[in-house]
Amino acid sequence: MPDAHRKRGHTSAPTASHRPILPPEPYDVERVRLDFPILRRLVHERPGRLGKPLVYLDNAASGQKPRAVIDAMVRCMEQEYANVHRGIHYLSQQTTDAYEAVRGKIACFLNAPSRDNIVITRNATEAINLVAATWGRRFLEPGDEVILSVLEHHANIVPWQLLQSEKGFTIKVVPCDARGQLDVDAYADLLGPKTKLVAITHGSNVTGTITPVAEITRLAHRHGALVLLDGSQTVVHMPVDVQVINPDFYVFTGHKLYGPTGIGALYGRKSVLHQMPPYQGGGDMIAAVSFDGTTYRDPPYRFEAGTPPIIEGIGLGAAIDYVEMLGRDAIALHEHSLLERATKRLEQIEGVRIIGTAPDKAAILSFVLDGVHPHDLGMLADQMGVAIRVGRHCAEPLLARFGVEAAARASFGLYNTIAEADALVDAVVAVKEFFR
Ligand SMILES: *Cc1c(COP(=O)(O)O)cnc(C)c1O
Repeated sequence: MPDAHRKRGHTSAPTASHRPILPPEPYDVERVRLDFPILRRLVHERPGRLGKPLVYLDNAASGQKPRAVIDAMVRCMEQEYANVHRGIHYLSQQTTDAYEAVRGKIACFLNAPSRDNIVITRNATEAINLVAATWGRRFLEPGDEVILSVLEHHANIVPWQLLQSEKGFTIKVVPCDARGQLDVDAYADLLGPKTKLVAITHGSNVTGTITPVAEITRLAHRHGALVLLDGSQTVVHMPVDVQVINPDFYVFTGHKLYGPTGIGALYGRKSVLHQMPPYQGGGDMIAAVSFDGTTYRDPPYRFEAGTPPIIEGIGLGAAIDYVEMLGRDAIALHEHSLLERATKRLEQIEGVRIIGTAPDKAAILSFVLDGVHPHDLGMLADQMGVAIRVGRHCAEPLLARFGVEAAARASFGLYNTIAEADALVDAVVAVKEFFR
């Protein structure tokens, strides 16, 4: 673990203000970059042609992995691997301890009251499907209302539609304004006695909008509705405290947090988790099994059937440690400077339209360029070594809201530099010239 990045004093939460406040250190992005082996590779290498340095600006799709994550997973497989929760032998116990410690890390990361609030899943998508399949299937009825927003990723739309076709409740959608901000007045108007669930993103993967989740939650609870928040884009960019925001469910995915694929988490309020039936059946989630009837374990294990993603869990634990070491406030500040730089320069290019200009937004920059299809833009930028995402970003209703079928998206991560923000803008300028 590179201990050169000391966690900064000013990253401590306001509640921990008894700690001495240290003056901010400069964020040493070049040092951070050394922790990510993949950032040293070149792209578009061919025999006889030197490749181009990789400018990786597709972090909202997935983050690259620091050495600490890679090493932790290799160490697990080389030194500390056995199945968990069932062996009494030495290695199984060691692996179980390491794996369960990750549950504790996730709990701390979200400031959950206990590790028992944390269900480990395959990703954010599975976490949302788990809530739909268990809480939703048990408690939603015809005539009930579920409120989503136009900002949602498909992962927080389709599970509810699938359940709707089975249960016959109504889905209502909170609109956003021209800047991509959630319309809180419209949301307040949609709430009513029939509202059973509000499932809304904490941060949009297209516009970068950060939604006012504490207010959303407070209003929903006033009507007796539960709240699920999708934190896939927020936990990577800023500190999140589920005891301050106070939702009933909070989900995120590991691979965008610089961890491996195949791992994510669901935070659930204890009283709610205890009311929920199992998700999948199998080993690990049962208390006792007989052909006369089977009893289930308490949460969170009730929702974790089968051998869990052990190696991925170890990797996620290392990713959380890494992000915490840098400090999420420090990461947010750094990424914001990149967002500002790229936004200011992109705005000056005639024909560029930025999609999502909320004052409170994460370092995600979606845009379209007049007369150039986003796919052409993405392909040409890629030729210059600049990796961005183009397309519908798993959020078709949101793109439709802005009247486009596809858009280009640059999203910054903790290892990106001002030079890379400039490389993005230079690529857009070059593409524009190309199409003149
Ligand atoms: C990426 C993303 C998801 C889904 O994450 P998976 O890892 O594919 O499950 C859900 N919501 C948002 C906002 C996302 O950005």
